[in-house]
Amino acid sequence: MQPTELEQLAREFGNPLYVYDAEKIEFQYNRLTNAFAKVEKLRINYAMKALSNISILKLLKNLGSGLDTVSIQEVQLGLHAGFTPDKIIFTPNGVSFEEIEEVAQLGVQINIDNLSVLEHFGTKHPKVPVCIRINPHVMAGGNENISVGHIDSKFGISIYQIPHILRIVENTKMHINGIHMHTGSDILDIEVFLYAAEILFDAAKQFKDLDFLDFGSGFKVPYKKGDIETNIEELGKKLTKRFLAFEKEYGRELTLAFEPGKFLVSEAGYFLAKVNVIKQTTSTVFAGIDTGFNHLIRPMFYGSQHTIENISNPKGKERFYTVVGYICETDTFASNRRITEIHEGDTLCFRNAGAYCFSMASNYNSRFKPAEVLWKNGKGHLIRERETFEDLLQNQIMVEV
Ligand SMILES: *Cc1c(COP(=O)(O)O)cnc(C)c1O
Repeated sequence: MQPTELEQLAREFGNPLYVYDAEKIEFQYNRLTNAFAKVEKLRINYAMKALSNISILKLLKNLGSGLDTVSIQEVQLGLHAGFTPDKIIFTPNGVSFEEIEEVAQLGVQINIDNLSVLEHFGTKHPKVPVCIRINPHVMAGGNENISVGHIDSKFGISIYQIPHILRIVENTKMHINGIHMHTGSDILDIEVFLYAAEILFDAAKQFKDLDFLDFGSGFKVPYKKGDIETNIEELGKKLTKRFLAFEKEYGRELTLAFEPGKFLVSEAGYFLAKVNVIKQTTSTVFAGIDTGFNHLIRPMFYGSQHTIENISNPKGKERFYTVVGYICETDTFASNRRITEIHEGDTLCFRNAGAYCFSMASNYNSRFKPAEVLWKNGKGHLIRERETFEDLLQNQIMVEV
């Protein structure tokens, strides 16, 4: 999107504001499906925890996507947005048994990542097909917080426990219809992913009645200049070849599934905030903006580097700034960053604000959550109103005791 278009939206809908470019989401979706065009049965399940606005869900549904969910509330939002239960997969971790049962009752595919839950579920509901989440113990990225495939991860059932899974299946006569892995959020090296895939193929051979193999996600998108991006086209070529060979070996047609979040929506998002103050200290120039980690926590939580542009002065001379929020706590978005000259009242734009940005927002400091806008055909459509004071009071009860 152009700086002028974004500035116009900020004027129209106010700051701070999340904007999502529908065409970019479409582009990414098509990129992924094209990369795997040779696979007969391909299924993309959008990991909605990345960005769960129902208009975004609708958009992805209309593209043909399914949904990957992690809570019954996400399942309900998906159904509300028009997904049918058979297009939804539930991949929770550490939720209650009752929640898993409730979701299964809705007709949603269950993905189980714990032996005790598997045994309990298989005993009680032997007729409900279940997918199992395997932990292949492959380290995907460098960041501890976002690699979930390593040995002590809380996610998945260890590949070394497959004999135990098989015993449970035999004892309960339950039906395992899918095998799943999700190694983490940063595939830097396709070979590492393919290595993990081999482990999944090996595991899959031990189950005779599978309908699908789910390779999760972890597709990396660039956040700043010089970042590595997962080469989807190359991955598509290599994994397709392996998948087709495996299908032959397995002796029946299988669905190849993925569940990307970031890859589909990260780059489509822009977060706009107004500069309240410029503050010069002895060593730094601070740009203080009308937002904080209540609205965008990734820089503080993960150390993510979101590119920041001054869309009010895109052609200006570059200077160094430390961009900070208005929260009464340290909330630094960026240190010593080159940005075109900033004046009070300018609008700054954060890139890659589609995934894990609004969906992680809170009301800390009793601030309103921002509005969200979907940009389509040269027009901004409001898809979430900015909160109001009533929202802050909602569910609160004033008692004097
Ligand atoms: C979060 C999550 C994803 C999506 O990960 P991205 O890095 O956003 O693509 C996929 N699968 C599962 C099980 C997840 O928990």
